[in-house]
Amino acid sequence: MKQEYIENIKEKANYCLHCKTKPCTKGCPLENDIPEFIQAVKDEKYEEAFQILSQTTILMPICGRICPHKSQCEGSCVRGLKGKSVSIGDIEAFVGDMAFKENYEIEKENLNGKKVAIVGGGPAGIASAYYLRKNGYMVTIFEKYSVLGGLLNHGIPEFRLDKELLNNWINKVLSLGIEVKYNSKLGKDITINGLKEQFDSVLLAIGANVSSKMNIPGEDLIGVYGGNELLEYKSHPDYNGKKVAVIGGGNVAMDAARTVNKMGAKEVTVIYRRSKEQMPAEEKEIADAENEGVNFLFKTNLKRILSNSGKVEKIECIKTNLVQKQGEARLVPVDIEKSEFLLDMDYVIMAVGSIPEKKLVDSLKLETSKWEYINVNEDYETSIENVYAAGDIIGAKQTVAWAARAGINAAKQIIKKDNEKCKM
Ligand SMILES: Cc1cc2nc3c(=O)[nH]c(=O)nc-3n(C[C@H](O)[C@H](O)[C@H](O)COP(=O)(O)OP(=O)(O)OC[C@H]3O[C@@H](n4cnc5c(N)ncnc54)[C@H](O)[C@@H]3O)c2cc1C
Repeated sequence: MKQEYIENIKEKANYCLHCKTKPCTKGCPLENDIPEFIQAVKDEKYEEAFQILSQTTILMPICGRICPHKSQCEGSCVRGLKGKSVSIGDIEAFVGDMAFKENYEIEKENLNGKKVAIVGGGPAGIASAYYLRKNGYMVTIFEKYSVLGGLLNHGIPEFRLDKELLNNWINKVLSLGIEVKYNSKLGKDITINGLKEQFDSVLLAIGANVSSKMNIPGEDLIGVYGGNELLEYKSHPDYNGKKVAVIGGGNVAMDAARTVNKMGAKEVTVIYRRSKEQMPAEEKEIADAENEGVNFLFKTNLKRILSNSGKVEKIECIKTNLVQKQGEARLVPVDIEKSEFLLDMDYVIMAVGSIPEKKLVDSLKLETSKWEYINVNEDYETSIENVYAAGDIIGAKQTVAWAARAGINAAKQIIKKDNEKCKM
């Protein structure tokens, strides 16, 4: 690790005021003890910083790089009130990098004889597996793909998250003694009942990565894609010389737009129905997309997709006004009458939201919400006893840190229930 990098991180750590009230910790979905781990970095006690973070997370090098820090920890930093927030993400990523380089040990308890099956190896599944193994449980992750990481591997593109770094880190977590059954798909290779017979508890962490539809005319035309599916399966059409519209304003929209742009599209236009300030995507992602030449049409909604040939040819958009409506936290976009306009287009990528895989969820025969998210009680338990669920599949806030937090919370509930049973 270059001395220059270490000095830069120390400078960033020294900028932290070590507030007693810890607003940054309150802003972190995982409630990492930020002032304390940064203090350890200031003192050059990097292993101690890692152990402090390990109490609440195991995704340091990942969250440090791709969490929406401005709306989480850094958004609550006292320094940010009068200037620039402490670069908490950079310091956290550094601690993760040091832990990998120096091979810091992850503390764990001896096995207690209890076995948990976790279905899905994304952030929720990995965080839960970590916490359970750390506390003496034998854990097996069942993953449909031949790699773990979930959307960290097959959603977020390489230009934002280095996959070698990611997979090295996942291997470090697995070296704690977590077993993985790859290419094991729930609903095909394994069933909930089968897992219940072999394990004391089952946790479902299967994510929700199906693109939502707008239900507008032309959405089924050739050349209309879901952003989630394009990024997951990487089966892109040839964008060279083509005009592409990306609909939406979140992470998926930004990642899809930047990916398509890098793949040689002639023109990429992000169409978002609210204003720039209200985009859910991180400021940095928007700025990067702009700098790379992606166009933006704000306060504009997609009305329909047009074609005479069966393939996308044009899109009809309409301008919107943002109005405050009673009971709504955010300004609501309202179409401006007679403001429609047409644009020539070759491809349309829908990135207006992510939902669970309906067919799979229906087959599980669990109670769900109307959007097919699996319902859980306050203990993260589903409608089937000893079957838990966490992460995007329960409709958590669809960020890595929130998914990981849900996974850890579910693990805590499994442990609590087992402890209560022991006392009976
Ligand atoms: C393009 C994109 C960019 C994003 N960018 C960011 C970002 O910058 N910052 C951020 O914080 N969040 C971001 N997110 C959101 C974040 O990735 C998710 O909130 C998070 O990954 C959810 O974790 P999870 O474990 O619940 O689900 P996933 O990450 O979806 O993991 C689910 C796992 O379950 C497996 N699985 C699914 N079905 C089955 C089955 N039937 N049997 C066995 N295994 C199965 C999947 O293969 C996967 O490994 C992004 C999402 C996308 C799509």
